[in-house]
Amino acid sequence: MKIAFIGSGYVGLVSATCLAEIGHEVISVDNDHEKIATLERGGVPIHEHLLGQLINRHHGKRLHFSTDVRDSVRKSDAVFITVGTPQSETGEADLSFVEAVASRIASAIDRKKLIVEKSTVPVRTCDSLRKTLVLNGAPRDSFSVASNPEFLREGTAVTDFLYPDRIVAGADDEFSVSALQEIYAPLTSGDYYSLKDRVPGPSNWPGKAQMILTNAKSAELIKHASNSFLAMKISFINAVSRISEAVGADISEVCAGIGSDNRIGPKFLNAGIGYGGSCFPKDISAFHAVASQYGYDFSLLSEVMRINEEQRSQFLCKVRSAVWTLRGKRLGVLGLAFKGGTEDVRESPAIAIVKALVKEGAQVHAYDPVASSKAAAQFTDPSVSYEAMSPYEVAEGSDALLILTEWKEFADLDLSRIRKLLKYPIFVDGRNLYSPKQVTDAGLVYYSIGRPPALPKEIDSPIEAGRELSDSVTFVPSAGRKTPAIEQSA
Ligand code: NAD
Repeated sequence: MKIAFIGSGYVGLVSATCLAEIGHEVISVDNDHEKIATLERGGVPIHEHLLGQLINRHHGKRLHFSTDVRDSVRKSDAVFITVGTPQSETGEADLSFVEAVASRIASAIDRKKLIVEKSTVPVRTCDSLRKTLVLNGAPRDSFSVASNPEFLREGTAVTDFLYPDRIVAGADDEFSVSALQEIYAPLTSGDYYSLKDRVPGPSNWPGKAQMILTNAKSAELIKHASNSFLAMKISFINAVSRISEAVGADISEVCAGIGSDNRIGPKFLNAGIGYGGSCFPKDISAFHAVASQYGYDFSLLSEVMRINEEQRSQFLCKVRSAVWTLRGKRLGVLGLAFKGGTEDVRESPAIAIVKALVKEGAQVHAYDPVASSKAAAQFTDPSVSYEAMSPYEVAEGSDALLILTEWKEFADLDLSRIRKLLKYPIFVDGRNLYSPKQVTDAGLVYYSIGRPPALPKEIDSPIEAGRELSDSVTFVPSAGRKTPAIEQSA
Protein backbone atom coordinates (compact mmCIF):
# COMPACT_ATOMS: atom_id res chain seq x y z
CA MET A 1 0.00 0.00 0.00
CA LYS A 2 1.11 3.60 -0.51
CA ILE A 3 1.36 5.31 2.84
CA ALA A 4 2.36 8.77 4.11
CA PHE A 5 3.46 9.63 7.64
CA ILE A 6 3.02 13.30 8.57
CA GLY A 7 5.57 13.92 11.32
CA SER A 8 8.96 12.18 11.20
CA GLY A 9 9.91 12.15 14.87
CA TYR A 10 10.54 9.12 17.09
CA VAL A 11 7.17 7.56 16.22
CA GLY A 12 6.71 8.75 12.64
CA LEU A 13 10.20 7.92 11.38
CA VAL A 14 10.37 4.52 13.08
CA SER A 15 6.84 3.54 11.95
CA ALA A 16 7.42 4.75 8.38
CA THR A 17 10.70 2.84 8.15
CA CYS A 18 9.17 -0.32 9.62
CA LEU A 19 6.20 -0.22 7.24
CA ALA A 20 8.69 0.08 4.36
CA GLU A 21 10.52 -2.90 5.89
CA ILE A 22 7.34 -5.00 5.73
CA GLY A 23 6.73 -4.13 2.10
CA HIS A 24 4.82 -0.85 1.78
CA GLU A 25 5.70 2.23 -0.29
CA VAL A 26 6.17 4.94 2.33
CA ILE A 27 6.78 8.69 2.38
CA SER A 28 7.96 10.11 5.69
CA VAL A 29 7.03 13.81 5.80
CA ASP A 30 8.12 16.59 8.12
CA ASN A 31 7.95 20.38 8.09
CA ASP A 32 11.42 20.49 9.66
CA HIS A 33 13.46 21.01 6.48
CA GLU A 34 16.74 20.36 8.23
CA LYS A 35 15.52 16.98 9.50
CA ILE A 36 14.40 15.93 6.03
CA ALA A 37 17.68 17.16 4.50
CA THR A 38 19.62 15.07 7.05
CA LEU A 39 17.55 12.02 6.15
CA GLU A 40 17.99 12.66 2.43
CA ARG A 41 21.77 12.74 2.97
CA GLY A 42 21.61 9.36 4.70
CA GLY A 43 21.83 10.73 8.24
CA VAL A 44 19.58 9.64 11.11
CA PRO A 45 18.33 12.48 13.32
CA ILE A 46 17.63 10.29 16.38
CA HIS A 47 19.59 7.65 18.27
CA GLU A 48 17.57 4.47 17.85
CA HIS A 49 18.96 0.95 17.70
CA LEU A 50 18.68 -0.61 14.16
CA LEU A 51 16.92 2.43 12.67
CA GLY A 52 19.93 3.60 10.63
CA GLN A 53 20.38 0.15 9.10
CA LEU A 54 16.73 -0.09 8.07
CA ILE A 55 16.61 3.43 6.64
CA ASN A 56 19.71 2.62 4.67
CA ARG A 57 18.11 -0.58 3.39
CA HIS A 58 14.95 1.11 2.06
CA HIS A 59 15.80 4.76 1.37
CA GLY A 60 15.21 5.62 -2.27
CA LYS A 61 13.44 2.30 -2.86
CA ARG A 62 10.36 1.85 -0.68
CA LEU A 63 11.12 4.73 1.69
CA HIS A 64 11.12 8.38 0.67
CA PHE A 65 11.35 11.67 2.54
CA SER A 66 9.51 14.89 1.84
CA THR A 67 8.50 18.25 3.25
CA ASP A 68 5.46 18.43 0.96
CA VAL A 69 2.29 17.33 2.78
CA ARG A 70 -0.02 17.91 -0.18
CA ASP A 71 2.02 15.93 -2.68
CA SER A 72 2.60 13.07 -0.20
CA VAL A 73 -1.09 12.83 0.70
CA ARG A 74 -2.06 12.79 -2.98
CA LYS A 75 0.35 9.91 -3.63
CA SER A 76 -0.96 7.82 -0.71
CA ASP A 77 -3.87 5.53 0.13
CA ALA A 78 -3.39 5.89 3.87
CA VAL A 79 -2.09 8.87 5.83
CA PHE A 80 -0.79 8.48 9.38
CA ILE A 81 -0.68 11.53 11.65
CA THR A 82 2.42 11.28 13.85
CA VAL A 83 3.03 14.84 15.05
CA GLY A 84 3.61 15.79 18.68
CA THR A 85 0.77 16.23 21.17
CA PRO A 86 2.53 18.13 23.96
CA GLN A 87 1.06 19.16 27.28
CA SER A 88 -0.68 22.53 27.33
CA GLU A 89 -0.28 24.93 30.25
CA THR A 90 -3.53 23.65 31.74
CA GLY A 91 -2.38 20.02 31.66
CA GLU A 92 -4.51 18.97 28.67
CA ALA A 93 -3.09 17.64 25.41
CA ASP A 94 -2.28 20.43 22.97
CA LEU A 95 -3.80 19.18 19.72
CA SER A 96 -2.89 22.20 17.60
CA PHE A 97 -0.28 20.24 15.57
CA VAL A 98 -2.82 17.51 14.85
CA GLU A 99 -5.40 20.10 13.81
CA ALA A 100 -2.92 21.94 11.58
CA VAL A 101 -1.97 18.70 9.83
CA ALA A 102 -5.63 17.67 9.45
CA SER A 103 -6.47 20.88 7.64
CA ARG A 104 -3.50 20.39 5.27
CA ILE A 105 -4.56 16.78 4.60
CA ALA A 106 -8.18 17.86 3.96
CA SER A 107 -7.23 20.22 1.18
CA ALA A 108 -5.13 17.53 -0.52
CA ILE A 109 -7.66 14.69 -0.50
CA ASP A 110 -8.53 13.77 -4.08
CA ARG A 111 -9.83 10.20 -3.63
CA LYS A 112 -10.90 7.92 -0.81
CA LYS A 113 -8.19 7.63 1.85
CA LEU A 114 -7.69 6.27 5.31
CA ILE A 115 -6.59 8.89 7.83
CA VAL A 116 -5.00 7.31 10.88
CA GLU A 117 -4.31 9.04 14.17
CA LYS A 118 -1.17 7.44 15.56
CA SER A 119 -0.18 10.33 17.79
CA THR A 120 -1.36 9.86 21.37
CA VAL A 121 -4.60 11.83 21.65
CA PRO A 122 -7.49 12.13 24.12
CA VAL A 123 -10.58 10.03 23.58
CA ARG A 124 -12.98 11.51 20.99
CA THR A 125 -10.21 13.19 19.00
CA CYS A 126 -11.34 11.02 16.06
CA ASP A 127 -14.65 12.96 16.08
CA SER A 128 -12.83 16.31 16.04
CA LEU A 129 -10.57 15.03 13.28
CA ARG A 130 -13.53 14.08 11.09
CA LYS A 131 -15.11 17.49 11.66
CA THR A 132 -11.87 19.34 10.85
CA LEU A 133 -11.38 17.37 7.65
CA VAL A 134 -14.89 18.24 6.45
CA LEU A 135 -14.64 21.89 7.53
CA ASN A 136 -11.45 22.18 5.51
CA GLY A 137 -13.00 20.92 2.33
CA ALA A 138 -12.69 17.12 2.33
CA PRO A 139 -15.96 15.59 1.07
CA ARG A 140 -17.53 13.41 3.80
CA ASP A 141 -17.24 10.21 1.78
CA SER A 142 -13.63 10.85 0.70
CA PHE A 143 -12.01 9.59 3.89
CA SER A 144 -12.30 7.31 6.90
CA VAL A 145 -10.69 8.09 10.23
CA ALA A 146 -9.16 5.35 12.38
CA SER A 147 -7.12 5.26 15.56
CA ASN A 148 -3.97 3.15 15.70
CA PRO A 149 -2.08 4.17 18.85
CA GLU A 150 1.61 3.38 19.04
CA PHE A 151 3.24 1.50 21.93
CA LEU A 152 6.90 1.50 20.87
CA ARG A 153 9.50 2.44 23.44
CA GLU A 154 12.45 4.65 22.59
CA GLY A 155 15.67 2.64 22.60
CA THR A 156 13.92 -0.54 21.37
CA ALA A 157 11.49 1.17 19.01
CA VAL A 158 12.25 -0.83 15.84
CA THR A 159 11.88 -4.24 17.49
CA ASP A 160 8.83 -3.05 19.43
CA PHE A 161 7.16 -2.00 16.19
CA LEU A 162 7.98 -5.16 14.27
CA TYR A 163 7.35 -7.54 17.19
CA PRO A 164 4.46 -5.85 19.00
CA ASP A 165 2.63 -7.24 22.04
CA ARG A 166 -0.48 -6.22 20.12
CA ILE A 167 -1.56 -3.87 17.36
CA VAL A 168 -4.57 -1.84 18.43
CA ALA A 169 -6.74 -0.94 15.43
CA GLY A 170 -9.61 1.38 16.31
CA ALA A 171 -11.96 1.50 13.35
CA ASP A 172 -15.58 2.54 12.99
CA ASP A 173 -16.23 1.32 9.42
CA GLU A 174 -15.38 -1.52 7.06
CA PHE A 175 -13.06 0.59 4.90
CA SER A 176 -10.85 1.38 7.93
CA VAL A 177 -10.89 -2.20 9.18
CA SER A 178 -9.77 -3.71 5.90
CA ALA A 179 -7.15 -0.99 5.23
CA LEU A 180 -5.59 -1.46 8.67
CA GLN A 181 -5.68 -5.24 8.25
CA GLU A 182 -3.93 -4.91 4.90
CA ILE A 183 -1.25 -2.58 6.31
CA TYR A 184 -0.33 -4.93 9.14
CA ALA A 185 -0.93 -8.21 7.25
CA PRO A 186 2.79 -9.10 6.95
CA LEU A 187 2.98 -9.04 10.76
CA THR A 188 -0.41 -10.57 11.61
CA SER A 189 -0.02 -13.37 9.03
CA GLY A 190 3.51 -14.08 10.23
CA ASP A 191 4.92 -13.74 6.67
CA TYR A 192 7.47 -11.16 7.75
CA TYR A 193 8.86 -13.46 10.42
CA SER A 194 9.69 -16.14 7.89
CA LEU A 195 11.97 -13.81 5.89
CA LYS A 196 15.68 -14.57 6.10
CA ASP A 197 16.75 -10.93 6.36
CA ARG A 198 14.09 -9.88 8.90
CA VAL A 199 15.07 -7.82 11.90
CA PRO A 200 15.72 -10.39 14.64
CA GLY A 201 13.10 -10.49 17.37
CA PRO A 202 12.62 -11.91 20.84
CA SER A 203 13.37 -15.62 21.28
CA ASN A 204 9.90 -16.33 22.69
CA TRP A 205 8.09 -14.66 19.75
CA PRO A 206 4.84 -16.57 19.03
CA GLY A 207 5.23 -16.24 15.24
CA LYS A 208 2.38 -13.83 14.47
CA ALA A 209 1.44 -10.39 15.72
CA GLN A 210 -1.95 -10.03 17.35
CA MET A 211 -4.34 -7.33 16.13
CA ILE A 212 -6.99 -6.09 18.54
CA LEU A 213 -9.90 -4.56 16.65
CA THR A 214 -11.90 -1.98 18.59
CA ASN A 215 -13.89 1.12 17.81
CA ALA A 216 -11.87 4.33 17.48
CA LYS A 217 -12.81 5.74 20.90
CA SER A 218 -11.82 2.52 22.68
CA ALA A 219 -8.45 2.56 20.90
CA GLU A 220 -7.84 6.16 22.01
CA LEU A 221 -8.75 5.21 25.57
CA ILE A 222 -6.52 2.11 25.51
CA LYS A 223 -3.44 4.24 24.85
CA HIS A 224 -4.02 6.77 27.65
CA ALA A 225 -5.08 4.05 30.08
CA SER A 226 -2.03 1.88 29.26
CA ASN A 227 0.45 4.68 29.85
CA SER A 228 -1.34 5.71 33.03
CA PHE A 229 -1.26 2.15 34.32
CA LEU A 230 2.48 1.86 33.69
CA ALA A 231 3.14 5.20 35.40
CA MET A 232 1.00 4.00 38.30
CA LYS A 233 3.16 0.88 38.59
CA ILE A 234 6.29 3.05 38.78
CA SER A 235 4.81 5.39 41.37
CA PHE A 236 3.51 2.43 43.35
CA ILE A 237 6.91 0.81 43.66
CA ASN A 238 8.50 4.18 44.42
CA ALA A 239 6.01 4.64 47.26
CA VAL A 240 6.85 1.15 48.54
CA SER A 241 10.56 2.06 48.30
CA ARG A 242 10.00 4.83 50.85
CA ILE A 243 8.69 2.32 53.38
CA SER A 244 11.36 -0.20 52.46
CA GLU A 245 14.09 2.35 53.10
CA ALA A 246 12.54 3.51 56.36
CA VAL A 247 12.39 0.00 57.81
CA GLY A 248 15.71 -1.26 56.48
CA ALA A 249 14.30 -3.68 53.88
CA ASP A 250 15.77 -4.03 50.39
CA ILE A 251 13.47 -2.79 47.62
CA SER A 252 15.22 -4.97 44.99
CA GLU A 253 14.23 -8.06 46.96
CA VAL A 254 10.74 -6.68 47.43
CA CYS A 255 10.42 -6.00 43.66
CA ALA A 256 11.61 -9.50 42.81
CA GLY A 257 9.09 -10.94 45.23
CA ILE A 258 6.19 -8.90 43.90
CA GLY A 259 7.15 -9.15 40.24
CA SER A 260 7.40 -12.93 40.21
CA ASP A 261 3.63 -13.07 40.66
CA ASN A 262 2.29 -13.74 37.16
CA ARG A 263 -0.63 -11.42 37.75
CA ILE A 264 1.75 -8.51 38.39
CA GLY A 265 4.96 -9.14 36.41
CA PRO A 266 8.42 -7.65 36.98
CA LYS A 267 8.34 -4.86 34.38
CA PHE A 268 8.01 -1.22 35.46
CA LEU A 269 8.63 -2.29 39.04
CA ASN A 270 12.04 -0.68 39.48
CA ALA A 271 12.35 1.93 42.17
CA GLY A 272 14.25 5.02 41.08
CA ILE A 273 14.01 8.76 40.57
CA GLY A 274 10.61 8.53 38.87
CA TYR A 275 9.33 8.47 35.33
CA GLY A 276 9.93 11.17 32.71
CA GLY A 277 10.17 11.43 28.96
CA SER A 278 7.94 12.89 26.31
CA CYS A 279 5.01 10.53 26.98
CA PHE A 280 4.20 9.57 30.55
CA PRO A 281 4.13 13.02 32.19
CA LYS A 282 1.97 14.58 29.49
CA ASP A 283 -0.24 11.53 28.91
CA ILE A 284 -1.09 11.02 32.57
CA SER A 285 -1.87 14.71 32.91
CA ALA A 286 -3.98 14.65 29.72
CA PHE A 287 -5.89 11.56 30.84
CA HIS A 288 -6.59 13.21 34.18
CA ALA A 289 -7.88 16.30 32.33
CA VAL A 290 -10.07 14.21 29.99
CA ALA A 291 -11.60 12.42 32.97
CA SER A 292 -12.44 15.79 34.59
CA GLN A 293 -14.04 17.00 31.36
CA TYR A 294 -16.37 14.02 31.49
CA GLY A 295 -17.19 14.57 35.16
CA TYR A 296 -14.85 12.05 36.82
CA ASP A 297 -12.23 13.08 39.35
CA PHE A 298 -9.45 10.56 38.60
CA SER A 299 -7.67 11.32 41.88
CA LEU A 300 -5.61 8.12 41.62
CA LEU A 301 -3.73 9.80 38.75
CA SER A 302 -3.14 12.95 40.81
CA GLU A 303 -1.47 10.75 43.39
CA VAL A 304 0.64 9.00 40.71
CA MET A 305 1.91 12.43 39.59
CA ARG A 306 2.48 13.63 43.15
CA ILE A 307 4.53 10.57 44.11
CA ASN A 308 6.60 11.00 40.95
CA GLU A 309 7.45 14.61 41.83
CA GLU A 310 8.19 13.64 45.41
CA GLN A 311 10.61 10.95 44.28
CA ARG A 312 12.85 13.60 42.74
CA SER A 313 12.88 15.77 45.85
CA GLN A 314 13.59 12.66 47.93
CA PHE A 315 16.60 11.96 45.77
CA LEU A 316 17.85 15.51 46.36
CA CYS A 317 17.49 14.93 50.12
CA LYS A 318 19.57 11.82 49.66
CA VAL A 319 22.31 13.74 47.86
CA ARG A 320 22.26 16.36 50.60
CA SER A 321 22.52 13.61 53.19
CA ALA A 322 25.46 12.18 51.34
CA VAL A 323 27.52 15.32 50.79
CA TRP A 324 25.91 17.67 53.34
CA THR A 325 25.78 21.15 51.81
CA LEU A 326 25.75 21.44 48.03
CA ARG A 327 27.23 24.89 47.55
CA GLY A 328 30.61 24.63 45.88
CA LYS A 329 30.55 20.82 45.73
CA ARG A 330 31.66 19.15 42.53
CA LEU A 331 29.24 16.37 41.61
CA GLY A 332 29.83 13.81 38.88
CA VAL A 333 26.57 12.94 37.13
CA LEU A 334 26.09 9.82 35.03
CA GLY A 335 23.14 10.05 32.68
CA LEU A 336 21.06 12.87 31.21
CA ALA A 337 18.60 11.04 28.93
CA PHE A 338 15.19 10.33 30.43
CA LYS A 339 16.05 6.63 30.26
CA GLY A 340 18.81 4.40 28.90
CA GLY A 341 19.06 3.61 25.19
CA THR A 342 17.96 7.00 23.87
CA GLU A 343 19.30 10.51 23.47
CA ASP A 344 15.86 11.95 24.29
CA VAL A 345 16.03 14.43 27.16
CA ARG A 346 12.44 15.66 27.03
CA GLU A 347 11.07 15.82 30.60
CA SER A 348 14.13 13.94 31.79
CA PRO A 349 14.19 13.51 35.57
CA ALA A 350 17.99 13.58 35.28
CA ILE A 351 17.94 17.12 33.88
CA ALA A 352 15.41 18.22 36.51
CA ILE A 353 17.79 16.96 39.20
CA VAL A 354 20.82 18.60 37.59
CA LYS A 355 18.92 21.91 37.54
CA ALA A 356 18.01 21.54 41.22
CA LEU A 357 21.63 20.71 42.17
CA VAL A 358 22.90 23.77 40.31
CA LYS A 359 20.25 25.93 41.98
CA GLU A 360 21.71 24.91 45.32
CA GLY A 361 25.19 25.93 44.23
CA ALA A 362 26.73 22.63 43.09
CA GLN A 363 29.11 22.31 40.16
CA VAL A 364 27.95 19.46 37.92
CA HIS A 365 30.17 17.43 35.60
CA ALA A 366 27.87 15.29 33.52
CA TYR A 367 28.36 12.41 31.13
CA ASP A 368 25.85 10.59 28.96
CA PRO A 369 26.79 8.15 26.17
CA VAL A 370 24.58 9.97 23.62
CA ALA A 371 22.43 12.67 25.23
CA SER A 372 25.02 15.27 26.26
CA SER A 373 24.55 17.63 23.31
CA LYS A 374 20.74 17.53 23.53
CA ALA A 375 21.01 18.17 27.27
CA ALA A 376 23.36 21.09 26.68
CA ALA A 377 20.88 22.56 24.21
CA GLN A 378 18.09 22.26 26.77
CA PHE A 379 19.94 23.50 29.86
CA THR A 380 22.94 25.76 29.70
CA ASP A 381 24.53 27.01 32.88
CA PRO A 382 28.12 27.95 33.71
CA SER A 383 27.96 25.48 36.63
CA VAL A 384 27.34 22.48 34.36
CA SER A 385 29.90 20.90 32.10
CA TYR A 386 28.86 18.38 29.49
CA GLU A 387 32.30 17.82 28.00
CA ALA A 388 33.34 14.60 29.75
CA MET A 389 33.92 11.63 27.47
CA SER A 390 33.58 8.84 30.03
CA PRO A 391 32.16 8.04 33.48
CA TYR A 392 35.72 8.02 34.82
CA GLU A 393 36.34 11.57 33.63
CA VAL A 394 33.37 12.89 35.61
CA ALA A 395 34.37 10.86 38.66
CA GLU A 396 37.86 12.34 38.76
CA GLY A 397 38.10 14.87 41.58
CA SER A 398 34.34 14.85 42.28
CA ASP A 399 32.94 14.97 45.79
CA ALA A 400 30.40 12.29 44.86
CA LEU A 401 29.20 10.32 41.86
CA LEU A 402 25.48 10.21 41.02
CA ILE A 403 23.73 7.78 38.64
CA LEU A 404 20.63 9.34 37.10
CA THR A 405 19.97 7.26 33.96
CA GLU A 406 19.95 3.46 33.71
CA TRP A 407 22.43 3.10 30.84
CA LYS A 408 23.82 -0.42 30.59
CA GLU A 409 27.39 0.86 30.65
CA PHE A 410 26.77 2.52 34.02
CA ALA A 411 25.87 -0.86 35.50
CA ASP A 412 29.27 -2.18 34.59
CA LEU A 413 31.71 0.38 36.00
CA ASP A 414 35.12 -0.46 37.36
CA LEU A 415 34.18 0.57 40.88
CA SER A 416 37.69 0.31 42.31
CA ARG A 417 38.86 2.74 39.65
CA ILE A 418 35.92 5.04 40.48
CA ARG A 419 36.90 4.84 44.15
CA LYS A 420 40.44 5.98 43.35
CA LEU A 421 39.28 8.84 41.13
CA LEU A 422 36.68 10.32 43.47
CA LYS A 423 37.71 12.90 46.03
CA TYR A 424 35.36 11.23 48.53
CA PRO A 425 34.05 7.69 48.22
CA ILE A 426 30.40 8.63 47.81
CA PHE A 427 28.21 6.88 45.28
CA VAL A 428 24.52 7.85 44.99
CA ASP A 429 22.61 5.54 42.68
CA GLY A 430 19.22 6.86 41.56
CA ARG A 431 18.56 3.72 39.50
CA ASN A 432 19.64 0.89 41.80
CA LEU A 433 22.08 -0.49 39.23
CA TYR A 434 24.23 -2.20 41.86
CA SER A 435 23.89 -4.39 44.87
CA PRO A 436 25.11 -2.70 48.05
CA LYS A 437 27.79 -5.41 48.43
CA GLN A 438 29.29 -4.74 45.00
CA VAL A 439 29.73 -1.05 45.80
CA THR A 440 30.90 -1.34 49.37
CA ASP A 441 33.41 -4.07 48.44
CA ALA A 442 35.06 -1.43 46.25
CA GLY A 443 35.39 0.87 49.24
CA LEU A 444 32.52 3.21 48.37
CA VAL A 445 29.67 4.41 50.55
CA TYR A 446 26.51 3.49 48.69
CA TYR A 447 23.24 5.39 48.73
CA SER A 448 20.47 3.89 46.63
CA ILE A 449 16.68 3.92 46.47
CA GLY A 450 14.56 1.92 48.91
CA ARG A 451 17.56 0.47 50.75
CA PRO A 452 19.49 1.72 53.73
CA PRO A 453 22.87 3.35 53.03
CA ALA A 454 25.66 0.80 52.87
CA LEU A 455 29.19 1.28 54.11
CA PRO A 456 32.44 -0.41 53.21
CA LYS A 457 33.97 -2.54 55.98
CA GLU A 458 36.85 -0.16 56.53
CA ILE A 459 34.51 2.63 57.49
CA ASP A 460 33.41 2.17 61.06
CA SER A 461 30.03 3.81 61.16
CA PRO A 462 27.26 4.41 63.59
CA ILE A 463 24.63 4.15 60.81
CA GLU A 464 21.64 2.09 61.83
CA ALA A 465 19.83 0.11 59.22
CA GLY A 466 16.32 1.39 58.95
CA ARG A 467 16.91 5.01 59.92
CA GLU A 468 15.27 7.53 57.59
CA LEU A 469 18.35 8.53 55.67
CA SER A 470 17.25 11.85 54.33
CA ASP A 471 16.63 13.40 57.71
CA SER A 472 18.84 11.67 60.16
CA VAL A 473 22.11 10.75 58.55
CA THR A 474 24.66 13.13 57.18
CA PHE A 475 27.84 12.32 55.39
CA VAL A 476 30.37 15.03 56.11
CA PRO A 477 33.49 15.11 53.99
CA SER A 478 36.17 17.46 55.17
CA ALA A 479 39.00 18.81 53.09
CA GLY A 480 41.98 16.53 52.77
CA ARG A 481 40.29 13.62 54.55
CA LYS A 482 39.83 10.53 52.47
CA THR A 483 37.83 8.57 55.01
CA PRO A 484 34.24 9.71 55.30
CA ALA A 485 32.58 10.26 58.62
CA ILE A 486 28.94 9.52 59.08
CA GLU A 487 27.11 11.73 61.47
CA GLN A 488 23.69 11.15 62.83
CA SER A 489 21.71 14.14 63.77
CA ALA A 490 18.97 12.36 65.65
P1 NAD B 1 8.45 14.17 17.90
O1 NAD B 1 8.39 15.55 18.47
O2 NAD B 1 9.71 13.40 17.98
O3 NAD B 1 8.01 14.21 16.37
C1 NAD B 1 6.98 14.99 15.85
C2 NAD B 1 7.41 15.45 14.47
O4 NAD B 1 6.29 16.08 13.85
C3 NAD B 1 8.53 16.47 14.50
O5 NAD B 1 9.60 16.03 13.69
C4 NAD B 1 7.89 17.74 13.94
O6 NAD B 1 8.79 18.54 13.20
C5 NAD B 1 6.79 17.15 13.07
N1 NAD B 1 5.71 18.09 12.75
C6 NAD B 1 5.07 18.94 13.59
N2 NAD B 1 4.13 19.64 12.90
C7 NAD B 1 4.20 19.20 11.61
C8 NAD B 1 3.49 19.55 10.43
N3 NAD B 1 2.53 20.49 10.45
N4 NAD B 1 3.82 18.94 9.28
C9 NAD B 1 4.79 18.00 9.25
N5 NAD B 1 5.49 17.62 10.35
C10 NAD B 1 5.20 18.22 11.52
O7 NAD B 1 7.27 13.38 18.61
P2 NAD B 1 7.20 11.80 18.87
O8 NAD B 1 7.97 11.46 20.08
O9 NAD B 1 7.44 11.09 17.60
O10 NAD B 1 5.66 11.66 19.26
C11 NAD B 1 4.62 11.79 18.31
C12 NAD B 1 3.33 11.31 18.93
O11 NAD B 1 3.44 9.92 19.24
C13 NAD B 1 2.97 11.99 20.24
O12 NAD B 1 1.58 12.11 20.34
C14 NAD B 1 3.48 11.02 21.30
O13 NAD B 1 2.78 11.13 22.51
C15 NAD B 1 3.19 9.69 20.63
N6 NAD B 1 4.05 8.60 21.08
C16 NAD B 1 5.37 8.80 21.31
C17 NAD B 1 6.17 7.74 21.71
C18 NAD B 1 7.64 7.95 21.99
O14 NAD B 1 8.25 7.06 22.59
N7 NAD B 1 8.23 9.06 21.59
C19 NAD B 1 5.61 6.46 21.85
C20 NAD B 1 4.26 6.27 21.57
C21 NAD B 1 3.48 7.35 21.19
